[in-house]
Amino acid sequence: MITDKVAIVTGSTSGIGQAMARALAENGVHVVLNGFGDIDQIEQDRSALEKETGRTILYHGADMTRPEEIEDLVKSTASKLGSVDIIVNNAGVQYVSKIEEFPTEKWDQIIAINLSSAFHTIKHAVPYMRTNKWGRIINLASAHALVASPFKSAYVAAKHGIAGMTKSIALETAQDGITVNAICPGYVKTALVENQIGDTAKTRGISEEDVINNVILAAQPSKQFTTVDQIGALCVFLCSDAGANITGSMLPMDGGWTAQ
Ligand code: NAD
Repeated sequence: MITDKVAIVTGSTSGIGQAMARALAENGVHVVLNGFGDIDQIEQDRSALEKETGRTILYHGADMTRPEEIEDLVKSTASKLGSVDIIVNNAGVQYVSKIEEFPTEKWDQIIAINLSSAFHTIKHAVPYMRTNKWGRIINLASAHALVASPFKSAYVAAKHGIAGMTKSIALETAQDGITVNAICPGYVKTALVENQIGDTAKTRGISEEDVINNVILAAQPSKQFTTVDQIGALCVFLCSDAGANITGSMLPMDGGWTAQ
């Protein structure tokens, strides 16, 4: 158990973020949820998780493209729950397009949500962690933080940026009881992947079935999707005492993709 620590998980209203928030709460952590979606559904999920785990579960609707809202997310968490011990930077979006047709606003949006938001959360959370001499920063990167695929210039740039930032801040905080790591999943069956199957089919001129078999799972030697619960379990491990000397690491969960 990771008793009575306080975590913020960005983008935790669905997919991987939701599973990591649940895994942390089940292991003793108070959690602030964040992300978009139907507000009644979000409240239903928040209160169900609070009842099931007996932890305090709050929701903050900060838009991860807005630095002042991110600052408020961190500072209001500290004032309501006493501190900020764990930051999970997970919010992310994808856009698939040839570079010549890549909309500039999509580039700006992906860099803001997938990369800059993590800079802002970490910047505001590290002072609390240094005071407590304990902190865990987990950046949800991707296999695309280590290798590239075509038609994903903004996503791959943002995720490679996350890898560099993870290493740099890990060095800065290495003697303060703070660890900074990046989890690098291969393909995980969430809304983010479901939504890009059609776009990839169109861009490559192939069927959606071909995208799943010959593009998505072709990259992963295990021929298995990584599951959200597996990622939740790694997140909990990194927050446990066993993870205390793992810092600056890129941790692939990609069925062998980046071993090739
Ligand atoms: P998802 O679409 O299910 O979840 C994305 C979350 O981010 C949602 O909660 C959404 O509301 C939130 N979000 C989007 N824009 C936001 C904004 N401006 N402000 C606040 N929240 C915002 O996707 P997912 O697959 O669970 O992805 C989560 C993370 O995992 C992303 O960083 C993604 O790049 C990464 N990842 C996903 C896969 C995969 O195959 N699904 C693989 C590797 C890495």
